[in-house]
Amino acid sequence: MKYLYLVLILGFSFNVIAQENLDLSYYLPQDISYNPEITTPQEVLGYIPGEWHVTHDLLVAYMRTLASESPRISIENRGTTFEGRPLLLMLITSEANQKNLETIRKNHVSLTEANSENLKTEEMPIVVYQGFSIHGNEPSGSNAALLAAYYLAAGQGKKIDKLLENTVILFDPSLNPDGLQRFAYWANTNKSKNLNPDPQDREFSEVWPGGRTNHYWFDMNRDWLPVQLPESRARIATFHKWQPNILTDHHEMGSNSSFFFQPGIPSRTHPLTPQMNQDLTKEIGTYHAKALDKIGSLYYTQEDYDDFYYGKGSTFPDINGSIGILFEQASSRGHVQETDNGLLTFPFTIRNQFTAALSTLEAAGSMITKILDYQRSFYKNSRNTMGKDAYVFGSEKDKNKAYHLAEILKRQQVEIYEIKEDFELNGKNFKKGSGYIVPKNQRQHRVVEAMFEKRTSFTDSLFYDVSAWSFPLAFDLKFDNSVPLKYAGEKIDSLQKPSINTITKSEYAYLMEWHDYYSPKALNLILEKGLRAQVGMKSFEANSKKYDYGTILIPVQNQKMNTTEIFNFLKEVSEKSNVSITGVSTGLTKGINLGSNYFRSLEPQKVAIIVGDGITPYDAGEIWHLFDQRYDMKITKLDTRNFGRTDLSKYTDIILPNSWGTALEKKDTEKIKDWVKDGGTLIGYKNAAKWFNTNEFMKLEFLENKVKAKDISFEERNDFRGAQGIGGAIFEATQDRSHPVNFGYSDNKIALFRDTTIFIKADSTSFNNPLKYTEKPLLSGYISKPNLDLLANTVPFKQVGMGKGNVILFTDNTNFRGFWYGTNKLLMNAIFFGDEM
Ligand SMILES: [Zn+2]
Repeated sequence: MKYLYLVLILGFSFNVIAQENLDLSYYLPQDISYNPEITTPQEVLGYIPGEWHVTHDLLVAYMRTLASESPRISIENRGTTFEGRPLLLMLITSEANQKNLETIRKNHVSLTEANSENLKTEEMPIVVYQGFSIHGNEPSGSNAALLAAYYLAAGQGKKIDKLLENTVILFDPSLNPDGLQRFAYWANTNKSKNLNPDPQDREFSEVWPGGRTNHYWFDMNRDWLPVQLPESRARIATFHKWQPNILTDHHEMGSNSSFFFQPGIPSRTHPLTPQMNQDLTKEIGTYHAKALDKIGSLYYTQEDYDDFYYGKGSTFPDINGSIGILFEQASSRGHVQETDNGLLTFPFTIRNQFTAALSTLEAAGSMITKILDYQRSFYKNSRNTMGKDAYVFGSEKDKNKAYHLAEILKRQQVEIYEIKEDFELNGKNFKKGSGYIVPKNQRQHRVVEAMFEKRTSFTDSLFYDVSAWSFPLAFDLKFDNSVPLKYAGEKIDSLQKPSINTITKSEYAYLMEWHDYYSPKALNLILEKGLRAQVGMKSFEANSKKYDYGTILIPVQNQKMNTTEIFNFLKEVSEKSNVSITGVSTGLTKGINLGSNYFRSLEPQKVAIIVGDGITPYDAGEIWHLFDQRYDMKITKLDTRNFGRTDLSKYTDIILPNSWGTALEKKDTEKIKDWVKDGGTLIGYKNAAKWFNTNEFMKLEFLENKVKAKDISFEERNDFRGAQGIGGAIFEATQDRSHPVNFGYSDNKIALFRDTTIFIKADSTSFNNPLKYTEKPLLSGYISKPNLDLLANTVPFKQVGMGKGNVILFTDNTNFRGFWYGTNKLLMNAIFFGDEM
C-alpha cells in the first residue's frame, strides 16, 4: 500500500515527498476501490496530475477517453472558444440515469414551473454543476477535475453507486480553455528539474497579460449575466437547460492564504437573494469543513468575498433558484512555492480542490430533498411576487442596440414580446418595431429585476465587485418599468436582427445616420475602400426626413468608383453592418445643404492601442474586442516593451488604456508628443489623466477626497478606506449633442459607468464641457457622500489641441466588460471625428 507512508509523513517533508514520489493515492480516497479497466490520468497525460500543469488539449483527450470507456459519462461539445478550443460538458450519473436523461431533465426543470406541487422531490436526483478554473491561472481546479472525473468514472462500491444514482453531475472541466492553456505553457516552460520554491523565480510571475482571462483578456467570471463571450454562452445555455441545484466555482487566491469556501460576508449578499440560499450554503459548508479537517487542511469561511454581483459564477445561481459556491485555494502558481504557511505544492492545492469537489457531492447527496424543495419554493415565492405590468425598452434610432439587449434576455431564458402599437408613457415614445416588452409575470422575473433595477441604498459600503449594472442604462435605451400589458404584441420565439431600409440607387449622394450602433462599422468599410465621405456638423432635413448631427454623406461624383459600383458597394456595406443607407437626388436640403462647408471630409483611420506591462489587460482587451469583434476594424497592439522602436507615423489614432503604474518611459512621452503635434489623436483612459497632466499633454484640475478618519478604529481602517473607493457605479452626465464626441446620441443625458475616483473640474468655458456630470449624478450603485459631492458638475471628458493633433481623455471606461453598449460610440466618435473637436 504505497499511499500509507505518505499519510504518515507530515509537514515540510510531506509536501516535498508528495511532489517527488507523487502517486494517485495521494489524492484518492481509499475507502472505495477503483475499476482497473478505466484509464488513469497518467496513462493519457504521461504524468501524475500535479507533476506538470495540464494543457487543455491533454485535458480534453483524457475527458474524451473517460467518456468512451465509462457508461456513466456522456460528453458534448457546446462550441468553441475564440481560439477554437472545444467547450466540453460531461454529464456524469449512473448508467440507469444515463439511459433516462431527458426524462430526468424535464422532471427536474418542471420543479421551477407552476403546478410542480405534486412532484415527489424525495424520488428525484439532484443536479450539480461543477465548474473549474474560470480563471486560467488558477489551475488547481482544472487539474483537480482530472482526478474528480477519474474518481467518478472508476470508483466502485455502494457509496459511489448511491452518489451516481442520486446525482446528475454537469461536469465542466475547464471554464476557460484559452486561459488555462496560456498559463500551463508559462508554468511548465519555467519549471526546473530541481523544483525551486523561491517566490522570486520567473516561474511565479507570468508575462502580461497572464492566464487569468480569455483570448480578449476578459474576466469571464464577470460575464454570467451579460453573456457576451462564447464560453459564457455555452455555460449559460447548459445552466438554463438543466437548472442545477448547486453550482461550484473553483478558484485560487493569494499564495499566503489557506482555503476559502462560501458563504461570503453575510452583509454583502444581494437583497434579492433569499436568506434560505445563504443558510443552505452554510450547511453545505459543514461538509467541506469535515472533509478538509480529515486531510488536515486549514480553511476559512464567511470572512471574505461576497454574493452581490450576479454576473459572478458563485452568485449568478442565487438569482436562479440555485446555490452558487465559491472555492478559493491559496495558489502555488508554479509547482511549489515558499509561503507564510510553509512550502505550498501544486499537488496540495489540487488535493484541496478535489476534496471540496467530493464534499460538494456528499452534501448534495445528503441534502437532496431540502435543496430540491428550496428550488421549488424559490420559484413559487417568485411567482407570488410578480407584478402584472411589464418593462419596455427600445430606441427608434438605434434598433441594433436594443436588439443586443433583447439577445441577452433571450440567453437568460427571459420571455420578450414585440411592441403592439406606438404609445406614449411618462413622456417617452415607444414605437412598434423599435423595442421590446418584458412582462413581469414570468418565471425569470427575478433575473429581469436583477438586470433592470436601480439601487442607491445599501446595507454595506464594501463590494467585491461592481455595485450596479442596470442594463437599460448600460445600453442607453429608452426604458420604462410600468407598462400596461395591452401594449405587448406577439411573443418573440426566435429573435431576428432588426430590419433595415433597402438602399435606393442615387446618381447624386448617399446619407447614413450616425445613430445606429453599427454605423462606425459601416463608415470604416466605406473609408477603407477609399471612398470619400464627410460628416455633417449640423442637422438638416432631406426628403422630409430629419438628419441629426454626425450624419455621413457619401457623394457619388468624383469618386474612384462609378455610380453602379458605389451603389453595389454601399448595398453590401448596409447589409454587412445592418445599417440603413439612403440615396438622395438633390443637395438642396433644409438647413445645411449637401455641399456645405459644414460637411467635413473624413480620413480612413489607422488605430493603434498600447498594451503590455503596466496597462490594465481588461481595459485594453475590451477595446481590442470592440474593434475586432464588433466593428471588424483592424487595431494594432503596440507593446510597451518595444515602444521605443515603434514607427508611430503609421497611425492616425493611438489609444492609451488605463494603466496600473507607469506604462511608458520618459523618452516615450516625447515620442508621443511629437506624433500628436504632427497630427495624431491620442485617446487616454482613466489613470492616463494623471500621466497627461504630469507630462503636460493637458492641464487638469483634480478634486481630491480629503475625508479624515474620525472614530474609526484600527480594526475598521480597511473598511473605512474601502468605502471611499468607487468599485463600479452608474452616473448621469449631460451631453452637448452638437459636439462631435456626442454625435449619434439622440437625447442630452447619458449614463456612464465609473470605477475610478479621478474627479476633474469642469472648464470655465461651457462649450469645452460637452459631457458633464449633473448636479445629482448618482443613477445606481454605491458611492460615499464625500465622493458624490465631489463628482457633481465635474467632467468625464477633456479634449485639447496640440500642434496639428489632439489629446482626448475619458475618465470613465466607455467599453466596460463588452456589455456597456451605450457608451461605445463615444470612443468611435473620438476616433472618427477627433479632428473636428
Ligand atoms: Zn479566480
